[in-house]
Amino acid sequence: MASRYDLIIVGTGFAGAFFLMRYLERAPATARVLVLERGARDPKPWQLEHRRSSSIDPAQVFHNKTPEKVWFTSPGFGGNSKCWMAGATRMMPGDFQLRTRYGVGIDWPMTYDDLEAHYCTAEQVMLISGPADSPMPRSKPFPLPPHRFSDPDALLKRHFPDGWYQMATARASVPTPTRGVCCATGYCELCPVDAKFTVQNGLAFIYEDPRVTLQLNSEVDGVVTAGGMAAGVSYRQDGRQQQADAELVVLGASAMFNPHIMLRSGMTHALLGKRLHEQLPIDVVLDLKGVKSYNGSTILTGLGYLFYEGEHRRDHAACMIETRNSPFGYFMGALRSEEGRWNERMIIRFLFDDLPRDDNTVTVSRDDPRMAEAYFAGYSDYAERGASLVPKMIDKLAEALPIERVVDSLRGQTSAHIQGTVVMGNDPATSIVDRHLIHHQYRNLLVLGASAFPTASPAYPSVTISALSLWAADHLFGAKA
Ligand SMILES: Cc1cc2nc3c(=O)[nH]c(=O)nc-3n(C[C@H](O)[C@H](O)[C@H](O)COP(=O)(O)OP(=O)(O)OC[C@H]3O[C@@H](n4cnc5c(N)ncnc54)[C@H](O)[C@@H]3O)c2cc1C
Repeated sequence: MASRYDLIIVGTGFAGAFFLMRYLERAPATARVLVLERGARDPKPWQLEHRRSSSIDPAQVFHNKTPEKVWFTSPGFGGNSKCWMAGATRMMPGDFQLRTRYGVGIDWPMTYDDLEAHYCTAEQVMLISGPADSPMPRSKPFPLPPHRFSDPDALLKRHFPDGWYQMATARASVPTPTRGVCCATGYCELCPVDAKFTVQNGLAFIYEDPRVTLQLNSEVDGVVTAGGMAAGVSYRQDGRQQQADAELVVLGASAMFNPHIMLRSGMTHALLGKRLHEQLPIDVVLDLKGVKSYNGSTILTGLGYLFYEGEHRRDHAACMIETRNSPFGYFMGALRSEEGRWNERMIIRFLFDDLPRDDNTVTVSRDDPRMAEAYFAGYSDYAERGASLVPKMIDKLAEALPIERVVDSLRGQTSAHIQGTVVMGNDPATSIVDRHLIHHQYRNLLVLGASAFPTASPAYPSVTISALSLWAADHLFGAKA
């Protein structure tokens, strides 16, 4: 007979962990929670020794039908928090209201103000470092002081005081009880000094709660439904097929695997698995005259909002700019060869929002249903129009920077953010989950994470994913009260 729980959560990344945290704060002492995670708990020493964040090869869990468009996923306890770059921006108020403000795209079914308090909580849990000034309204300061700019960032801030900011980042700028200070050596996906927030170092304690049973190596293959409700999930653990039942089922398996599980369960909706998207990244290397780079105190140091909010969004994508304070990683050879000028070079990423297309999809592989299959036809014309303006944007930056030449300007293979595929909205005909991430049809099924994002926003997604999980959990208890 299947075991019975109050709540089953699938996945231990940002989406599942922040939901569980808030649920445990509100739930009675008698609550029984089962968390199912497909991967193992790969400890940090193992990750460092093997130079990878997961013992599962991503090629074993999804098939990329369009390999020129890269998607990253890191299965296992903590999900992609193990390998994220820790850029921790909020979305801008306008990102939630593209249709109302600019006549394009889709409005999100909530506003920035609805999420603001949840943003603050997520930032507090992750101990985000960030500046005192901000391009968006904030009710609380960042928990930790900002990182030091690189010299080019400092020039940009001086020239564009309301357009350039220190990076909001989940890499500690000062020591915290659980994390060290960022060493800024550029080996950042695994963060050997554990300065970066991960579920493993920041939220592992919630999985020790006596109300919680965490089952690793448990791959969920379906939501079991009965009488128009979710009854539980089916899963494989150590090769054995099992089932667990619950009052409430929560999917937090990411925008790649939430639709995969739902499609395998026989769920149907015209949009299920569609609108897979992420930001369009353009990576630029600039040579500077007499200005030294790579001297900030973390890997991502600057955030540019010069081309983000504004009437241009009626015509083309908004852009957020990040500056990368290390020559390693994306650009091997990002050092100059001239004597004494090795670091008079700057690396910038321009990130453009996208209006998701129905022909970008996640489906179930016909050859092996255990594999998700990603297909990416392309970015929207809206995003492409924005990206075509990068040369003009560089001209604008040249007002503040002594740019000698543009060394490279390349389309990045990925911004490493998987979004869309189980979109939220108020109308069941045009969305799959409602504004509280509850499935329109199965009212005791929640589908968390960036799968719900109706549009891309140039911002990094994970703080918004976390805030949405807190918002969804709060609603659940508010609705019951
Ligand atoms: C290299 C890299 C850099 C990034 N940098 C940033 C950044 O700087 N800022 C930012 O905001 N975001 C960044 N991201 C994106 C960020 O990591 C994701 O937005 C975030 O992890 C999504 O959280 P999630 O909980 O929805 O999904 P995930 O973190 O992917 O977690 C999903 C969990 O579900 C589990 N799972 C999946 N399928 C099943 C199944 N069938 N059964 C059981 N369990 C399952 C997985 O193993 C995983 O633990 C980066 C990502 C990568 C890969």
